[in-house]
Formats: sequence, C-alpha cells, structure tokens
Amino acid sequence: MPTMLSKSRILAARQCSKRLWLEVNRPELRVVTPDIQRRFDQGHRLNDVVHHLLPDGHLITSDVTLGSALALTKRHLARQPRTPLFEGTFSRHRVLVRADILQGSGHGWRLTEVKSSTRVKPYHLDDCAVQAWVIGEAGYPVSQTVLAHVDTGFTYRGNGDYQGLLRHVDVSERIQPLMEQVPAWVTTGLDVLAGDEPDIAMGSQCTSPFGCPFIPYCSPEPTEYPVSLLPNAGKVVNALLADGIDDVRDIPEGWLTRPRLERVRVATVTGKPYVARELADYLAGLAYPRYYLDFESIQFAVPIWADTHPYEQLPFQWSCQVEEGAELLHEEAFLDDSGRAPMRACAERLIAKLGDSGPILTYSPFERQVIRALGRRYPDLGQSLDALAERIVDLLPVIRQHYYHPAMRGSFSIKAVLPTVAPGSTYDGLDVKDGVAAQVAFEEAIDPATDASRRNEIRQSLLTYCALDTLAMVQLVRFLSNPAPFDKTDTQ
Ligand code: SF4
Repeated sequence: MPTMLSKSRILAARQCSKRLWLEVNRPELRVVTPDIQRRFDQGHRLNDVVHHLLPDGHLITSDVTLGSALALTKRHLARQPRTPLFEGTFSRHRVLVRADILQGSGHGWRLTEVKSSTRVKPYHLDDCAVQAWVIGEAGYPVSQTVLAHVDTGFTYRGNGDYQGLLRHVDVSERIQPLMEQVPAWVTTGLDVLAGDEPDIAMGSQCTSPFGCPFIPYCSPEPTEYPVSLLPNAGKVVNALLADGIDDVRDIPEGWLTRPRLERVRVATVTGKPYVARELADYLAGLAYPRYYLDFESIQFAVPIWADTHPYEQLPFQWSCQVEEGAELLHEEAFLDDSGRAPMRACAERLIAKLGDSGPILTYSPFERQVIRALGRRYPDLGQSLDALAERIVDLLPVIRQHYYHPAMRGSFSIKAVLPTVAPGSTYDGLDVKDGVAAQVAFEEAIDPATDASRRNEIRQSLLTYCALDTLAMVQLVRFLSNPAPFDKTDTQ
C-alpha cells in the first residue's frame, strides 16, 4: 500500500518538510515531553465531553480496521445523515482524515473541528481546509466548517453540565482560499516522502506554530556555552550566529551592548560569578520571621470542579519554610489530593500558617497572582489574603538584577540557581522534578482508579519536590546574604 498522508502529516509538512519525513521514516526519534502529552490528554478529555454533549451522535471507534472505518462512515452518512458522526473517516488522493463531527446540513455537510485551545489559530484553518477538501473530494461537499474551541469565559456549574464550554466559530469563508492550496500541499508532502531525508537547518519553524518533537534529533552538538543561552536575547543570538559566533566565550569584548548580557559573557569567560555589591545588604536586611512560599497549581481545559473556568490556575499544594531567625527553620505544607476542590482549604491554611507580619518570599510573581485570585474567589477571606499578597517579596527580579553564575548557563530558574549556591543540591533523582510533572502526578493521584499505595507514593514525591523549591530559596538567601560568598565581581 502506498504511503498515505493524514491531516497531521500535512500539517507537519506545513511546519517543516523534514519533520514530515521523520514522522514517517524515523518515528522512534520523536521525544514527547510531559507538556505535549498533557495537551494530548486534555484534547481527548474534551472529545469525550463533546460526545457527551451530543448523546445521539454515533462514533466510529478507533479499534476497527481502516477499511471498516471507511465503510461504516459511508453507511452511517447514507442512513442517518442528520445524526452527528464522530470520527467519520474519509480517504481521497492518498490523504486520510477523521472528522471530529460531521452532520448533514441543508444541501451539504457541516464539519466541526474541536480544539482545546482558547482561540482560532492560523494552523487550525489549515487543519480545517485539509479536512473539508478531502471530505468534499470523497463525495460529501462541506457547506459549513466550524471551529469549536474552549471558551475561557465558561463557568462549570458541576454535575457534568458542560453546555457552553465550547465557542463555535464559523470559519467557512476563511478556509476557502486555503482549500485551493491543499492539492499543492498534498503533492509537496508526497514528494517529500518519496525522497531522502530533507537537509533543513533548525530555525524558528522548530517551535512555531508548535514545538517539534524532533528537536533533540536535529539539534547540533552543543558547544559548552552556546550563544542561545543568553537570556531574552533572540535577535542578538541570531546576529551572533550570522557573524559565525556560536559560543559565548567567543563573543568579542564590546560586541554586547546590554549590561545584563555583557555580565553573562564576562562571568562565562572568567568563570567567576557576578554578585552586585548591594545584594548582600538587601537580603540580610529582610526582616524576620521570613516565609519562603511556593505553590503548585493545575489547569484543566475541561474543568472538573464546580465554579471554575477552563484553564484557570487552581492551587492544590504549597510549601512554606518559616524562618523565625537565623538557623531557626521549619516547614509548613499543604497538599489536597482528595480529588475535591482544594482551593478553599488551601486559602484557609495559608491564612492560618503565614502569620501577620514578615516578608513572604517567592521566586516568581505567580504566588501573588494566585493569592489575589483566591481573595476574589472567596470574598470572606479577601481581606486576609490581600494582606498576605501585600507582604510578598519576589526574589526573582532581585536575583536577575544582582547575581549571575556561569553554571546557571543563562537560566535564572531556581533549579539552575540552586547548585551554584548549594553545591550538591539538585532536583536530579526526584520523581517529580518540575511544575508540569507535578501536574501530571497530581492528576494521577486524584484519579479514582489510582490505588492508595500509589497515591501515597505520589503524595510523598509532591511534598518532597515542593519543599525543595522553598528550601532552595532559603539556601539562596542565606548564601548571598554572606558579605563575601564569592570574590565580588561587580561590573556595573
Ligand atoms: S526540529 Fe526543526 S528542523 Fe528538525 S524536523 Fe523539527 S522543525 Fe524541522
């Protein structure tokens, strides 16, 4: 059987022809990150909800052969054209598509594509154009194409009522000019597959419109300090590469005009960290008691708790190291893995444990945003939560402005900073190592199918991970409060 294209393969080729070739010939090289996997999972959950919203719809299941799926589709459309068909399967001109929803409408067919994103994006239109073209060529002219995306203004009221979760946007006119281009996209895709692996350099296409799963395969052997590690410096990096400079240590003195980038260069070349002179005084001057706070939160495309919105940041865990005085430290922690909405208990526990005075130290603006949002959600707690938010001191901008160690390799994340102030401290070896992994673990923990022993294992992993984030802040502040943690290299 000749190689077939699918909608996804055509979209892959629209991003990069090498990606299409690799998808078909070297699929084992794909690296699916937890983030990408979670987005897939959210898409599947959304499709389940759509099927639930249209209970008279008919599904072509994925466990039948392609031939059966094609035959079942044809039979359903002939016998019950007005009944929504899920995953209707069509094949023409060596292109195979499965439509989220197809239904007879007037003198043609109404195609609905469901997306878990929150607005119509240009590549969605390519996606719809391919489907409408193939379905039309298969003998079912599409008279209306609708993109159904998640409406962030929707409030879930509970009891499985998801009416209003999706916003339906008619994209029929917008895809017309694209449909005329589909035959050329198909020809290009088939030509790519008939040839050898395309020789394509990495570029902006690798991350837009979505991250390519072949980035690790295509990435050149990195130099030790690639110029791409320069923080927030996309244009500068491109200019350096255009000048043939790919290592920070090879950047000529005077080339970089932004002080923060020059600081990174100097630290990398000399191997000595940069510590601004005023940093120690600032950190040492923070009053006691100090509260080092970090949240973990989760977002759902399809809300699971009543009175929440799609993609709302919902805190389910926090850790707080309470430092009553030098060397006097204990941890307060919260984690609700019961499966019930954790936000109210989270807020009440914060108010109970974070005292009335003393700075609340965070390493991002996120904690302040979450506390303010909790205050809006629970007006009776609003005053107390606002008082907590007022006490927050975000260390991230302070560190960005006053500290850089070459081992941070351009990153100011707490995970990159920690080993530079506490050698040997690392997130390596933890089951949960970052925020996305924490979300994935939490979802598994609240899944009713997860048994008690596994839930307990996840609980311990989450508590360990979150505590390490707050301990890292304590170590950072203690170390940099020392008047001479390093030989000072203030270059300002
Ligand atoms: S990583 Fe970039 S160059 Fe490589 S296949 Fe993907 S998009 Fe193409």
